[in-house]
Order: sequence, then structure tokens, then C-alpha cells
Amino acid sequence: MARPSGNADVTRSAILAFLGTSGSASRADLARALEVSPALMTQLVKDLLADGLVRELAMSPSSGGRPARMLGLATAAGRVVGMKVSKDHVAFVETELSGQVVRADSRAFDASSVTSLSDLVALVKSFVDQDRNTPLLGVGVGVPGSVDAQGSGVVDSSLLGWRQVPLGAVLSRELHVPVLVENNVNALAVAERLYGSGRKHSEFLVVTIGEGVGAGFVTGGAVVRGSRGGAGEIGHIPAVIDGPLCTCGNHGCIEALIGERALVEHARESGLIAPDATITALQEHADAGDPLAQDIFRGAGQPLGRTVAGLVQILDPEIVIVSGEGTRAWRHWAPGFERSFRAALTADRRSIPVIVESWDDEAWARGAAALVASAPFYSEESSGEQGRRVRARLTNVPAEVVGQ
Ligand SMILES: [Zn+2]
Repeated sequence: MARPSGNADVTRSAILAFLGTSGSASRADLARALEVSPALMTQLVKDLLADGLVRELAMSPSSGGRPARMLGLATAAGRVVGMKVSKDHVAFVETELSGQVVRADSRAFDASSVTSLSDLVALVKSFVDQDRNTPLLGVGVGVPGSVDAQGSGVVDSSLLGWRQVPLGAVLSRELHVPVLVENNVNALAVAERLYGSGRKHSEFLVVTIGEGVGAGFVTGGAVVRGSRGGAGEIGHIPAVIDGPLCTCGNHGCIEALIGERALVEHARESGLIAPDATITALQEHADAGDPLAQDIFRGAGQPLGRTVAGLVQILDPEIVIVSGEGTRAWRHWAPGFERSFRAALTADRRSIPVIVESWDDEAWARGAAALVASAPFYSEESSGEQGRRVRARLTNVPAEVVGQ
């Protein structure tokens, strides 16, 4: 069966997410909530019914108007595991098909260890094994780096120190479930599209600050992956000639200027914080009103603002969403960011909304879980065989007849 692409794919996922969170809804409710025409919604629901993913429930109680047939998820039994891999820890969530988080955990992890891959397998297994009763549809993994395709999951990450690590294949073989791997900012962008501020926008930009600096581009309702899954790595935009050394090996990348490591080093060198102190200490100084600490964040906000302005000029999004652990200190970034961002935009774009979301690790892991929940309908080209396996597990149809 041919799958629709682009917006329709995401809307199918959004219907499942809506039904999962609201329990039940009529076609009219769905059309209104997801801002889709009633005619298109009728068609999408028809496909979902035919695919066995949605079922018809009782008529809604009449409240004056014509009673409507309610719809619900065909199965609420499936669960999805999402994980966000960082260089020193892994965040896990288990979600329902709707994206509702059932449980979450965080474990220490050393990405630079020679046994990092087997360590990761052991961590996932121990998290997954806690619930053997509910069928596991698949595992979604977000990593800070480039992933060739979600379905094969070969990872290149300068932050993790990984080159061509076959993460997807290893996890899938060890766990015996479909595994989808994606750049963690792209995974976050999927979650934003399904559950967050991107729900009502098909053109938006997600920018993240923290240890790394990254971006996810959503256009036509779909995440732009690029030819090798590396689109949106804005941290490596060359900003300064002969600037500081970056983790990628080049000099003067934006991440080497305003990534967490650069800010902490700046604060240490100026004697503001102790040689072993972290970003938390720097933020505490800024919160307490220390002008030097505030200057460091404001100074980082300026190049970030100019960089994001450049992206807005290129992509012409409806909104910009800023996220990542660095947003904890956003009130100190904001003065530098806002000024340089607005000033660098052309007049017709200067009023574009910027939404700052203090999403945490759990939200990022939820984004990875959303890869699995949306796999049957979304980015099928990149989720490939793994996406078909998820779909087969959802509908209990043998994998070989699905997607034909
Ligand atoms: Zn770089």
C-alpha cells in the first residue's frame, strides 16, 4: 500500500497522539484540534480504520447537535522506549503510543569507554526488562551527532567521540525489537511537531543550546535530514577565523564559541569560578547578579542571535523554538540574543515569535520515543525496514505484507 507523505504522515501520527491523550474524539473534534479540513480528516480516519490502528466507539452523548461517532485507539497496550544518549549519562522514558510518559530513569554512562556499546546495551536491557507484560513496539534513540538513516542507525558524533558506530544494528540485534536512531535535536523536533509548540506549525525551527549547539528544521511538516542525516548541525557553522578549537577538529565553530565548555572555560580563566567548577556555578553567579557572569551569557547570546537570524533568512519559518539544557540560564542569554537576532533580520521577518521551552532530558527521550510511535507514518524512507517492523507489531500483521 502506498503511504501518503509529508503533512498527511504527521497528521496520522498526531491523530494517534490526540486519541491517546484524550481517550476518544469525534472526526470533527480531531479536525478542529489538528487544524485539518473535515474532508481530509474523514479520509485520514478511513485509512487509519482500514489499517486497524483506530476503532470506532459508541456515539457521543447528544448535546443538542447531532451525536457523533467517537473514535479511539485500536490498542493502548503497546509501549515505546525512548532514550537520549549523552557523553556521561543516558536518559530513558517509556511512553504509551500516545506519547504519554509512563516511567523515566537516568543512568550514568561513559561514551568514551572502549566498552561503551556493550555498556549501552546492558543499560537499555535493564530498563526495558522492568516491564515484560506490555508488548514493546520498539526503541527510539537520540544521539548528539549525525545518523545515516533512522532505520540503520550508524552514528558519527564528535561530542561522543564516535565514528561510524553501528548503534541501530547492535541494539536491534540484542533487544529483538525495531530500533530507530536519530540526531537528538531532530528527535526533539518530531516531539515538538507531535506534542509541543510545533503542533500548529508545519514550518518551524528548533534551536538547542547546552553542551552542543544544534538545530532541527521542520518544513512541510517533516524534519529535514539532509543527504546523510546531518542537516541542522549548526554548532559547526564557521563563525570566527582562527577561533578556538572545536570538538570537530576545526577552529572557530559557533559551538566552540558559545557551547557550555567554552562558557565554563571563559569563566574559569577570568577567575570567576574555581578551576573544577561547572556551568552550574557560572549560572549561580549570574543569578546572584554578578555582572561578569551575566556578560558571559549575554556575550554568547549575540552570536547565537546572529546565527539563528541567518537560519530564519534561509528557511523562513513561522516560529523559532529554543530548547536544550542551556535554556536554564536563558534570562541571561536573552538580552544579547534578542537584540542581535532582531537586528540581523530583514524588516519583514523581525517580529517572528521565539518560544523558549525549558524541556529537560525526559522531553528529549520522549522525542526519541516519538520516532517509534510515528515510524509507520512518518519519515518512512529513512525508517525503512525498522519502521515497517514497528508497524507490523502495531497491527499484528506479518512484516512482509506491510508497506506493499
Ligand atoms: Zn566544529
